[in-house]
Amino acid sequence: MSTDAASIQGQTSYVIIGGGLTAARAVEGIRESDADGRITVIAAEQHLPYERPPLSKGVMLGKDEEDVVFPHDRAWYDEQHVDLRLGTTATAIDTAAHTVTLSDGESLPWSRLLLATGSSVRTLEVDGADLQDIFYLRTLDDCEALKARLVAGSDVVIVGAGWIGLEVAAAAREHGCEVTVVEPQDAPLQGVVGPEVGGWFADLHRSHGVEFRFGEGVERFTGNADHKVDGVVTSAGDTIRADTVVVGVGIRPTTELAEAAGLTVDNGVVTDAALRTSVPDIYAAGDVANWRSETLGTNLRVEHWANANDGGTAAGKSMAGQDVTYDPIPFFFSDQYDAGLEYSGYVPRGLKAEVVLRGDPKSNEFMAFWLDGDRVLAGMHVNVWDTVPAIEQLVRDKTPVDRTKLADPDVPLSDVRS
Ligand SMILES: Cc1cc2nc3c(=O)[nH]c(=O)nc-3n(C[C@H](O)[C@H](O)[C@H](O)COP(=O)(O)OP(=O)(O)OC[C@H]3O[C@@H](n4cnc5c(N)ncnc54)[C@H](O)[C@@H]3O)c2cc1C
Repeated sequence: MSTDAASIQGQTSYVIIGGGLTAARAVEGIRESDADGRITVIAAEQHLPYERPPLSKGVMLGKDEEDVVFPHDRAWYDEQHVDLRLGTTATAIDTAAHTVTLSDGESLPWSRLLLATGSSVRTLEVDGADLQDIFYLRTLDDCEALKARLVAGSDVVIVGAGWIGLEVAAAAREHGCEVTVVEPQDAPLQGVVGPEVGGWFADLHRSHGVEFRFGEGVERFTGNADHKVDGVVTSAGDTIRADTVVVGVGIRPTTELAEAAGLTVDNGVVTDAALRTSVPDIYAAGDVANWRSETLGTNLRVEHWANANDGGTAAGKSMAGQDVTYDPIPFFFSDQYDAGLEYSGYVPRGLKAEVVLRGDPKSNEFMAFWLDGDRVLAGMHVNVWDTVPAIEQLVRDKTPVDRTKLADPDVPLSDVRS
């Protein structure tokens, strides 16, 4: 079927594959300039499209109701005339015929298609991995199941000291659990923030009673007669008692559909700055997209909320014919105990960036900058609010900065250029 055949009475048929924030925002982006186009959202989960950050924070803590995760309720989708296919998986894309096959066997025509398939968790394939009470945290259902296990006094072992592992550690401590984090590297988040700032995260968690086992991996899980996990055997040969295990060892972009359809895939679905893939009329955004950043002069794949939020909207606009250049500075946030942090910028993997601290980390109010030479690649604040625009400006400007001024909290960030 041609693009024209997929248009009914002159309407464009948009099909969005995915049920995360990217999908929700893409609907908004389309409707900005196309009030009449047919929009179908195909979402594998049974839930309305939702955002995930609260799953390891407010919802996990029991402070927020589950419905905070939904950017829109069902009535909104009805008002926008969106055909929501929840609990339905897209199983194949025919790029020549402009159709997508669904898990219920239906074949849907499209004139513009968005891949918003997000990420899938990496799993730990060791002995005992199939025992009960070993959790991953990606979905609302995962969150509800895990939350029920965070009972005061129980032993929770977290595998991986990345963002998910640390946020779950904080939530589990707030529920009164005994928490041990097993991490093969020497500090939390070492690949993202380096050992110095990673050490600050370790101290934050230790001060709340978390125990770390750095430099140790997981050899296997042990279980009891009921096939429930009861221990984690580490590479040091120790067994840590566990009532519940949470594995947070990273995610990978969900690219199977795109690969099978012949799209260019290289660490995600490759797109240009308008979020167009290598196949005409197919777009990608959010976690799954590896998009062209014009400011940074490289392709980027970002596994964070802001990229789903803004990238979804940008993709919707682009699909509806607006002239889009998606060019944000990558941004993410995290909340752990009473530490709120925001990070902006991009440090290429493997680059040994110099870290400049501004303020005293022990005060839990400080900033950190990552420099290549005298250029700021990225900056993060902990509880120093309203600094993101200034950090982003430094990253965008690419102008040399004076380290002494940058490190001095009394010098405004607008005056740190050398
Ligand atoms: C617990 C948790 C906490 C987080 N906290 C933060 C945070 O504090 N700050 C931050 O910046 N980021 C955070 N993130 C990351 C952020 O949530 C992601 O970047 C964001 O969810 C990406 O949105 P997305 O729509 O691109 O993909 P996803 O949210 O992964 O959604 C993709 C959806 O598509 C569906 N799907 C996949 N394939 C198909 C198919 N073939 N057919 C139909 N449906 C399909 C999936 O089932 C899924 O529901 C967190 C993530 C998690 C899991």
